[in-house]
Amino acid sequence: MVPRVVKGGPRLTEYLNAAKAVEPLYGDVQKHVLEKAGKPSDRRQDILHPSEMVKADWCHLAAFHRLRLQVEPAEKRTTTFTRENIFEEGHRTHSKWQAWLKEMGRLAGDWKCWYCGDVFWNDTTPAECHTCGAPPSCLEYAEVPLNADPLRIGGKADGYSPEDNALIEIKTLGLGSLRFERPEFLERYVVDTEHGRVPDLTRLWRDFRRPLPTAVRQTQLYMYLANHFEDLPAERTVFFYDFKPTQETKSFTVNYDESFSEPLIEAAAAIVDCLQADTPPFCNINGRAGCAVCLEFEEQKK
Ligand SMILES: [Zn+2]
Ligand SMILES: [Zn+2]
Repeated sequence: MVPRVVKGGPRLTEYLNAAKAVEPLYGDVQKHVLEKAGKPSDRRQDILHPSEMVKADWCHLAAFHRLRLQVEPAEKRTTTFTRENIFEEGHRTHSKWQAWLKEMGRLAGDWKCWYCGDVFWNDTTPAECHTCGAPPSCLEYAEVPLNADPLRIGGKADGYSPEDNALIEIKTLGLGSLRFERPEFLERYVVDTEHGRVPDLTRLWRDFRRPLPTAVRQTQLYMYLANHFEDLPAERTVFFYDFKPTQETKSFTVNYDESFSEPLIEAAAAIVDCLQADTPPFCNINGRAGCAVCLEFEEQKK
């Protein structure tokens, strides 16, 4: 019998996963995780999220529709096990750095009591629940809420250090995020080897000298919200980066620059005005014709 040669690649992986030709328990875990990911998200739809506002293709008309209808765009949310694994890894990395800062007493923020359900602010690791006196084992760090109610913006920073007047952002850096956000940076480190073209990770990590641009825009907006709406002095943001391929780490500082966020704040104010007047704004991405995101809402309305 002629052995069948099957070419590798993502298609084959997906097929094997679906066919469960691999270990059945492994397949069941993947199925479980993908089913969980398919459930409706508990992400609030009545506020503007800084993470969406800082994207180059943030459509004001789509934001208007979403706040008005309070539903997510109808686009099909496709995901893969790898993508979900990256998200989960990101959450775990947050918890790790936050736990270290907590042990040092250098972490301020909201704390949630799992015994009485209350959430309270504390400038350092609390000795007990402020409301019911439950011990620290019942308390979970609930990060740093950053809300501008009049502008309907709501977000959360990963941490705050009162001694440093600094917000804290924790990031994981993997090849996936670089490929997506800074393909030209990644491409510079791709070298030809006998196994094909692969990135030189040692040189890449050595030359990684500042946070990714979307992360900078997002933290500038966070600092704006902290200083103007939360009475939380934020002079700078400290970034902790975990490099996934090697587990090496780096830290960066981004100083507060108010002018960075002013156009976004003005846009949010304009969207709120439009909501009050019940008059949709123009699509700022593709004018009268509309962009993919706001057109989806138009479709939904039909
Ligand atoms: Zn309590
Ligand atoms: Zn649009």
